[in-house]
Amino acid sequence: MTHVALDLQADFVEKRLSGTATLTVDRQPGATELVLDTGNLEILRVTDRRGAALAYALAEEDSILGRALIVTLPAPTEPVVVTYRTAPTSAALQWLTPEQTAGKRLPFLYSQGQAILTRTWIPTQDSPGIRQTYEARIGVPRDLRAVMSAESLTPDGTLVGQDRAFEFRLTEAIPPYLIALAVGDIRSQSLGPRSGVYAEPAVLKAAAFEFADLEQMVEAAESLLGPYRWGRYDLLVLPPSFPFGGMENPRLTFATPTVIAGDRSLVSLAAHELAHSWSGNLVTHATWSDFWLNESVTTYVERRIMEAIYGVERAEILEVLAWRDLQEEMKRLGGPSSRDTVLHIDLEGRDPDDGATLIPYEKGAALLRLMELTVGRPSFDTYLRSYIDRHAFQPITTAAFLADVRANLVRGDPALEAKLRLDEWAYQPGLPPNAIEPRSAALDRVEAAARAFAAGTTASSLKAHAWGTQEWQYFLGALPDALSPAQLADLDDTFGLTGKGNSEVLFAWLRIAVRHHYAPAMPALERFLTSQGRRKFLRPLYGDLCARTWGKPEAKRIYAEARPLYHSAVTSTLDAMLAE
Ligand SMILES: [Zn+2]
Repeated sequence: MTHVALDLQADFVEKRLSGTATLTVDRQPGATELVLDTGNLEILRVTDRRGAALAYALAEEDSILGRALIVTLPAPTEPVVVTYRTAPTSAALQWLTPEQTAGKRLPFLYSQGQAILTRTWIPTQDSPGIRQTYEARIGVPRDLRAVMSAESLTPDGTLVGQDRAFEFRLTEAIPPYLIALAVGDIRSQSLGPRSGVYAEPAVLKAAAFEFADLEQMVEAAESLLGPYRWGRYDLLVLPPSFPFGGMENPRLTFATPTVIAGDRSLVSLAAHELAHSWSGNLVTHATWSDFWLNESVTTYVERRIMEAIYGVERAEILEVLAWRDLQEEMKRLGGPSSRDTVLHIDLEGRDPDDGATLIPYEKGAALLRLMELTVGRPSFDTYLRSYIDRHAFQPITTAAFLADVRANLVRGDPALEAKLRLDEWAYQPGLPPNAIEPRSAALDRVEAAARAFAAGTTASSLKAHAWGTQEWQYFLGALPDALSPAQLADLDDTFGLTGKGNSEVLFAWLRIAVRHHYAPAMPALERFLTSQGRRKFLRPLYGDLCARTWGKPEAKRIYAEARPLYHSAVTSTLDAMLAE
């Protein structure tokens, strides 16, 4: 597949997209069949461009991969036109009622393609190793606006009867998981010459304040990795049900509103998604087992952007927090010998989404940090930029990455080769012994405060009033498992933790509250679980609840109420957890 042209109509009553996908393919001489991925799609017709029917068959359903659509190819220069409609339960698409949006007035639709969900709204060859350009015409009810991960050719749309049509074009080739669509009451505000923010009107002002440094971030990333090659960089703040922190859809990052803290303390998320404009979107993992190549470089570059704009101390703090999260993730996955802690993960027979743990992000970033500290920052920066240039617009495998490092960074130096232990990092479980534990003097002080509090110091003598979001995250995570009810009440009364609006601080506090069954925080817990749908927050909190006799029925009761808010990427995990 080299190009797809979509012509789709969004029906918010039926919760379906319907229309055509016109697929251009690059065929081998003598090829007779085109095999496409589909998931839960209703195929109505397959024709050539003139409408002449082409023979096709749908293969047996695979519970993870969906159904292969096998089409007999037309004459060599002809595209294949698939007429189809999506199911109301399409896993990629979430159709939100007006009540589930910030504005409460109009419905909202968004797509989430990663890992292999694009096949549930577009018949395509749904592998990260296959790249295509795309164009689209999307019809929506006239008071809504459509945006995509592409250049908008008609920003205000064109009125057609009761509908409004929007046209898009992306001339850079991308893997199918990056084709993305959102429809809703969406407005935009410019932030810089090539950057801006999109959101529902009720959220726009706060979003523009929060992401005011976006243009500066693009410049910081460019100075590290070379020119930004996608034209504009905009960020769309989605309704609270969005399951992820962010999704790096080209030209238009999708982001959760839970990072709008009012003080720009959670904007490392924007740095992360922006960094994907190079690692992931330009240089793409060839298969889902190579996903770590995408996230490791991105997470490393995210910290470098944060350092460039907010200083070394903030970058160190973020790195230490992430290191602690990585240790916890290793434990959750079964310890350092678990196969799920291997960077090049074996996903045979599994949903590639199972590989979306912290390992590809943080173990991968630790390898890049090791490389930087071993060869020195100037040499490493030169290497990283050349790596992006060498592989831009191409897929890359783990083996090809390691060969690239050896050819262009190690260059036959046996001492350096021995210091890095590259194969052990890529192919063995756990953290190799040469991993470098990051340090932060600021968090060392917070750690000391946590120890003092655990030993009986009162909350008011902690000198914590100047702490920022990350200090609070670290402090709460460093507290021991057994605090007394008096200690919990002291903390809460002194710092108002139950009433925090910052999602990360509240999340860290609620985990403690669940562990101790701290009753005053239970209404806040229920509010948090029923007002946002971010998997990073939901999975641990529901998990903590389910691990407790009193918590399991509570989890079931809250989930029954909240489930319609959550995206399939979340319910697929939680359904299983709550059914046990
Ligand atoms: Zn990422």
